Amino acid sequence: MKQKVVLVTGGTQGIGLGIAKEFLSHNYFVIICARHEPKEKIFKNNEESTMFIKCDVSSSESRANLIKTIKENIGRIDVLVNNAGVAPLEREDILKASEENYEFVLKINLQGPYFLTQQLANYMIDLGKKNKNLDYHPSIITISSISAFTSSTTRGEYCISKAGLSMMTKLYADRLAEYNIPVYEIQPGIIKTPMTKGVKSKYDKLITEGLLPIKRWGNPADIGKAAVTLAKGLIPYTTGQVLNLDAGFHVLRL
Ligand code: NAP
Repeated sequence: MKQKVVLVTGGTQGIGLGIAKEFLSHNYFVIICARHEPKEKIFKNNEESTMFIKCDVSSSESRANLIKTIKENIGRIDVLVNNAGVAPLEREDILKASEENYEFVLKINLQGPYFLTQQLANYMIDLGKKNKNLDYHPSIITISSISAFTSSTTRGEYCISKAGLSMMTKLYADRLAEYNIPVYEIQPGIIKTPMTKGVKSKYDKLITEGLLPIKRWGNPADIGKAAVTLAKGLIPYTTGQVLNLDAGFHVLRL
């Protein structure tokens, strides 16, 4: 495979699809994975540069199958984008919330990417050793959220999973620096996707009332553009870096 290869978990819709499309427009071979096949053709006329692999990132068996398929059919991975994630099945006050919900969210949002990163980082290290003279500069990008630092008391498990991803980024950034594999985190704010469909009017109102310095929803393409910029090494001499793609939400204001 001469083309650079990116794996975007949860690339069938929303932010992941936006990221996948941006990489495709920069001539990457794009692998997307999710629990369900996309309902419609999402990469029209680009079949030769895209691949869908069914995978539940929370299952170690499913992750092993994903990695085996990539190794046997593609033989290369340049960029891992840990994007797949879920909101809790139901929002519940942390004084009442269930352990089932906690385990469901944590397994998909944190345990899955933690071990997928471990396994693909080892593959990247091997490829780096075998291809010393080639143009091989792998990187890892994780999509966390403003929920990594913002309290929402009716979805505590989601916030904890995203805060965990921030530490995961630091850990892998530290460990993989000796192999020249930079590790980044993107913290999106309020992005228009199927996940946020049900809370559209709530966020419309908050944005109109001034919640965000930049008064608009984010788009999946906003996140995609940043991910490609990081993967292309256009922000050098850094690792463990966090990009706040949140319309300025993270800025403390008086
Ligand atoms: P979305 O529209 O619900 O899309 C989620 C994607 O992840 C889908 O492709 C889904 O496909 C996949 N997915 C879910 N569980 C999975 C699993 N166990 N294994 C593999 N794939 C799985 O969500 P989104 O809004 O694009 O969010 C994407 C990421 O950004 C999430 O991590 C989310 O927490 C984060 N984020 C979103 C926002 C926002 O405002 N939208 C803000 C900050 C951060 P299947 O259901 O078929 O598996």
